[in-house]
Amino acid sequence: MYFSDICGYKREKKLWTSSCSDFAPVQILSGVPGAPILSLALSLIAWRHCKSQMVDDGCRTCSGCLKTSKYFHPDVFFTIPSGSVKNKSLDSSQLLKYWRKFLEKKNYQEIDSWASHLGNNIKNLQIGIKQIEELIAYSRSYPIEGEFKTFLIWQPELLNPSASNKLLKTLEEPPSGTKFLLVSNDPEKILSTVSSRALHLHFGSLSKDIVIEELKKKHPDKSINDLTYASELAAGQIDLANNILENPQEYSKFANWLRIIYLNDWTRLVEYLEEWGKKPLTEQKRWLSYGSTIMRGTLRSFATGRAEAKLLSRNAQFCYKLSKTLSINQQELIVEYLERSYEKINRNAKPGLTLLDASLHISRVLKN
Ligand SMILES: [Zn+2]
Repeated sequence: MYFSDICGYKREKKLWTSSCSDFAPVQILSGVPGAPILSLALSLIAWRHCKSQMVDDGCRTCSGCLKTSKYFHPDVFFTIPSGSVKNKSLDSSQLLKYWRKFLEKKNYQEIDSWASHLGNNIKNLQIGIKQIEELIAYSRSYPIEGEFKTFLIWQPELLNPSASNKLLKTLEEPPSGTKFLLVSNDPEKILSTVSSRALHLHFGSLSKDIVIEELKKKHPDKSINDLTYASELAAGQIDLANNILENPQEYSKFANWLRIIYLNDWTRLVEYLEEWGKKPLTEQKRWLSYGSTIMRGTLRSFATGRAEAKLLSRNAQFCYKLSKTLSINQQELIVEYLERSYEKINRNAKPGLTLLDASLHISRVLKN
């Protein structure tokens, strides 16, 4: 992954390559959902460990670039959320194998995609104390190929409390020759003693035009209308926009659920919930996050009065038409219930009951 593979963010790329950021051995990278913060961090690592010392990007050909591009560089250490796959905890080398495959598979990675990649029923994704002990041991050794080592911690908000405490001292006083990148979707949860000593860069969403350009590369057969609509619905989240284009049936299923609630068809709702309850946990979470983003997108297109639901089937038309009959307040409440359900399931609430609860609340919102 290189800077030139990622559109936008010129200012931040310039800041990094101008060496100003060398003053900060610990950096926190955060962003709005969909901002490619992990891809940006990987590009920074490639540039830092490139042997050609190009001004603004990795050269793609030196031994440093070849190793970072395969995520095998001996001076780069990854700490990533882990869990149990088929009831077995992954050891570091198994986790790294999954991780490399995941990074090779796609750009613009999100935590939900990582959970799906590890397996559909992965539970309790977290960074544990053993992983931090390995990091600390590695941080005390000398770099192998260059003058420093880079430690990338993805989703530091998922450090469990004992791991977090253990890491604290290392981040407060990083050993010489080490640089830390904390790539976070929820920087508020990072301990203040750590964040007060770090350079914090926050990345906004990509502009609609950039998202459309990116989508065009992957979907050259789609019309500009489809690309524009997917980009608007996904609110700058390339991963989600791709999903909308590639899996239109998911949109239909979400719209179908809303239609059932709208019609007060409780028999079908029960059938729907039974069917939904059989889905793997990661898919249920993705569905909820997808639904709330779609509702936000519909809300936005309704507010601007621009987008037309030309894309993806009659169900999309239903969602769009529904949005026209609802007040902005009603739509915001629907988004709120969906987001709340996502959070509840994240905290191990029963998915079927959570969605039933959301359905009943939303039904009340639709009646008002
Ligand atoms: Zn290079």
